[in-house]
Amino acid sequence: MYVKKLVQNCFGGLRNAAFRVPVQRTASATCVRLQHSQPDSRDVRSYRPETSSAKTLMDIGTRRIFSEDHDLFRQNVRRFFQEEVVPHHNQWEKAGEVSRELWEKAGQQGLLGVNISEEQGGVGGDLLSSAVVWEEQMYCNCSGPGFSLHSDIVMPYICSYGSKAQVQRFIPQLAAGKCIGAIAMTEPGAGSDLQGVRTFAKKDGNDWILNGNKVFITNGWLSDLVIVVAVTNREAPTAAHGISLFLVENGMKGFHKGRKLEKIGLKAQDTAELFFEDVRLPTDALLGQVNKGFYYLMKELPQERLLIADMAIASCEFMFEETRKYVTERKAFGKTISHLQTVQHKLAELKTEICVGRAFLDSCLQLHTEKKLDSPTASMAKYWATDLQNKVATQCLQLHGGWGYMWEFPIAKAFVDSRVQPIYGGTNEIMKELIARTIVGNN
Ligand SMILES: Cc1cc2nc3c(=O)[nH]c(=O)nc-3n(C[C@H](O)[C@H](O)[C@H](O)COP(=O)(O)OP(=O)(O)OC[C@H]3O[C@@H](n4cnc5c(N)ncnc54)[C@H](O)[C@@H]3O)c2cc1C
Repeated sequence: MYVKKLVQNCFGGLRNAAFRVPVQRTASATCVRLQHSQPDSRDVRSYRPETSSAKTLMDIGTRRIFSEDHDLFRQNVRRFFQEEVVPHHNQWEKAGEVSRELWEKAGQQGLLGVNISEEQGGVGGDLLSSAVVWEEQMYCNCSGPGFSLHSDIVMPYICSYGSKAQVQRFIPQLAAGKCIGAIAMTEPGAGSDLQGVRTFAKKDGNDWILNGNKVFITNGWLSDLVIVVAVTNREAPTAAHGISLFLVENGMKGFHKGRKLEKIGLKAQDTAELFFEDVRLPTDALLGQVNKGFYYLMKELPQERLLIADMAIASCEFMFEETRKYVTERKAFGKTISHLQTVQHKLAELKTEICVGRAFLDSCLQLHTEKKLDSPTASMAKYWATDLQNKVATQCLQLHGGWGYMWEFPIAKAFVDSRVQPIYGGTNEIMKELIARTIVGNN
């Protein structure tokens, strides 16, 4: 039902009349074809090919976890990225940020807060529809818009732990793209070791006074609302018992944004430092209960890891298809390099590994839709998929030769964008720690 609504949104039925006319009904051609070729459309899911059997790894109408409604949605999300993001991305890379207008357009098309219920002010889609947005962004190779962090990391904290008033105030604005969300955990002296954060919120009557600074914050420069992780009890038996989350708004006195950080990749994404100097926060800026912040972080991190992993596999699928195209066009020694057996074997290896990864990721997505994805499994997905992404990036770039090193070639951008994936969302070394604990316990 809600997926139908999403499709309607994208057809312009609910949110945007401007999108109504141009959406091609042929958009659903892939799934219509699938249906026509099958005798019983009720059982159409069982006939959806997995990526290993599909014509390309980015085909619409594939993978058993999805339905035809997801296909329609995907078709329109793909079109949105092609029309609204791809033509501007080079310019945004130079600016180090995407336009605010893009955020509002994405909101109008129902692409923000997809997996947030309508009652709370979101779009009311399922998790798989969110995954469609994650994957399509990777398929267009445009890492600029920080939509996934905004929609599937920031918004869920507010929906899960926020008061009714906080939800009503922020979620519709976030879903409309009029308010851009960020989450600030990392500090110059504390990344992997989250319990080492120093940012401190001190009670002052009914208010809190916030001091500290954060670094590497995605959407930080454009952010209107930041979930800030701060210590609220320095005497707690363990640091984890003395951490709280606060909703800090742009424009609050004492809240300053530092420079946009210059990165080796994710060039169009605004990653910033944030400073808090005696920021006075009212009681209702506290998100959830006092000193429960660390517990909330532990509960929400598996979804963050899942989305990074899914985006990693989607990036592999994109890089593979780019490379397949390149080797069938590039000539050496009188024929295309795709005639060389070493190239063919390399592509065979890459495709196999990507399809194996996709199968695990789809299983994780399915588990998460049933609320059964546990933390170690999400960590396995994050570590393995992002390592694979870097391997695929290196090998696909190699198959492009010198041209792969040129910024104008999509593989160059995909290569540098891959590098951060094993670092953020918890480094892959930390992922192995989390997995290992469930294997050998604490001994
Ligand atoms: C582009 C980008 C965007 C980011 N976005 C955000 C954001 O939006 N919000 C946010 O809060 N943070 C964000 N981060 C921060 C990111 O989550 C941290 O960089 C990451 O958690 C690692 O922390 P660190 O950089 O302090 O490295 P450190 O923790 O100092 O780690 C350095 C090295 O030591 C290893 N190491 C540390 N502890 C262990 C251990 N116990 N066992 C084994 N190895 C260990 C690490 O794996 C790593 O290899 C972002 C970072 C980048 C680069």
